[in-house]
Amino acid sequence: MTTIQQNFDFIVVGAGSAGCVVAARLSEDSRVRVLLLEGGGQDDHPDVKDPTKWPTLFYGAMDWGWKTAPLRSCFNRIDHLPRGKMLGGCHSHNANAWVRGHHTDFDNWAYSGCPGWSWNDVLPVFKKIEDWHGPASELRGTGGPIYVSPPVDPNPLAASFIEAGCSVGLPVLEDINGPEMLGVGYFNFTVKDGKRFSVADGYLRPALQRPNLTVLTFAETDRLLMDGNRCTGVEYRQNGQVFQAHASSEVILSAGVIGTPRILLLSGIGPEVDLKSHGIPVVANLKGVGRNLQDHPLLAGLLYECSGPLPPPHNNGAESTLWWKSDSQLIGPDIQPVFIEFAFATPELASRVPHHRCYTISPSVVRPQSRGTVKLASANPELAPIIDVNYLACDADVKAMLAAVELCREMGASDAFKEYRAREVMPGPLSRPDMITFIRNAVSTYFHPTSTCKMGHTPMCVVDHELKVHGIDGLRVADASIMPNVTSGNTNAPSIMIGEKAAEFVLKNR
Ligand SMILES: Cc1cc2nc3c(=O)[nH]c(=O)nc-3n(C[C@H](O)[C@H](O)[C@H](O)COP(=O)(O)OP(=O)(O)OC[C@H]3O[C@@H](n4cnc5c(N)ncnc54)[C@H](O)[C@@H]3O)c2cc1C
Repeated sequence: MTTIQQNFDFIVVGAGSAGCVVAARLSEDSRVRVLLLEGGGQDDHPDVKDPTKWPTLFYGAMDWGWKTAPLRSCFNRIDHLPRGKMLGGCHSHNANAWVRGHHTDFDNWAYSGCPGWSWNDVLPVFKKIEDWHGPASELRGTGGPIYVSPPVDPNPLAASFIEAGCSVGLPVLEDINGPEMLGVGYFNFTVKDGKRFSVADGYLRPALQRPNLTVLTFAETDRLLMDGNRCTGVEYRQNGQVFQAHASSEVILSAGVIGTPRILLLSGIGPEVDLKSHGIPVVANLKGVGRNLQDHPLLAGLLYECSGPLPPPHNNGAESTLWWKSDSQLIGPDIQPVFIEFAFATPELASRVPHHRCYTISPSVVRPQSRGTVKLASANPELAPIIDVNYLACDADVKAMLAAVELCREMGASDAFKEYRAREVMPGPLSRPDMITFIRNAVSTYFHPTSTCKMGHTPMCVVDHELKVHGIDGLRVADASIMPNVTSGNTNAPSIMIGEKAAEFVLKNR
């Protein structure tokens, strides 16, 4: 074991969407020393920079490459759950869509016991983050660290999707992050001059020359160092060696929805029964660690064959989307189909697809009721955790997905796609039971897992509303794992917002 000699005031674990923000904001004060530890490497691969190439990163060195536990409600299929493993985390791997969420998402967080997180509280933070290059609006921010714009030169197929939505009666949104989210429109993007513009570009790189910020890559944190109930630092592996680093003020875990509960559990912070089953001494019996896993289930398999040559993907290859309610009584959207400009199908369905000629309309459910877990398989930090995403366990999610499929098929069959549509490849007009079977075979991730260390003040909550871990001093969590419930849109912008709020809380505390 080697101990790093110098001490830090703060240690941030994970240089992803939230962690880059926390490290950059804290190191603005030249008097504090900040260490940022990242398990992956640099983000300079050409496929990271090219916004159309995000699917090529799957299973590569820059993806943690997690596999799910068998999906109990989906014929025990095993799915891939990609997570970015490099500077920028998932923002270096993701599809660059920029969505803040519906105002009721955040108001629900506040109502559920998280003061300071209502829409009115988080809107100024979103504005502070943004450097918006679309139509001027008092709801949008300019001059912030993250470049955001409407798509440049969108694909004509993406335009057809919007026209199709309009033809079935959906409002067309000028800006999906504007005053209204129910309707169909183009995503906003974090793409600048044709290249990915991630949180590593907007926050971390400008901070790198600061002498008080140390960034270590390929440094995988295994566990926290504890002195009683106080967190005093971390233990990490780099180049096969084990190191310890000490934080005199705080450790902030930003290792993401899988990484953060994994480190807490390995450190003895989690459900006592699980810890004891792996022989891990219990530091705090926090029952909610790794529970409450939520993800947006997305169907990969609703495909159409193009009548002529398929137009190549523009921007991220998934430029248009919609939000709608599967039931008009709901107070916010619960389905968010997305148009994908190439064939996107689960391995179980892929053999039926003429890949190079297909486009996809992917229905998804964005207020899922099903809940999963992240648990340790062993006390050995080098072994993968057990990730039970549990898609479609609740009938309510199946019902919402059926409504989303119906809407997508209606749009796919509309005249808006007449010029492009040769035929619907899958699923076709199936009976309800057959359609449910199709759905269970086609469901996959929308890449938005959250909520495994949820914020609040009930016994299942892991952090309080200032992101401090309950019952532990000197330790906060700042990443998508703290969301009490997943937002009803893509989760990157909310994760960056969480990073900004965390930095505010830490600085206020000093
Ligand atoms: C393929 C894909 C497409 C997506 N598309 C979109 C999209 O278009 N729009 C959108 O809004 N959202 C999208 N998302 C989701 C979004 O990017 C994430 O929700 C968000 O980035 C999560 O941020 P985070 O800070 O919680 O975690 P992350 O960004 O995952 O950061 C966690 C960081 O911690 C590091 N880490 C983990 N464990 C350790 C450890 N033990 N030691 C040290 N470091 C560790 C990781 O390597 C990573 O850098 C997508 C995600 C993926 C994977």
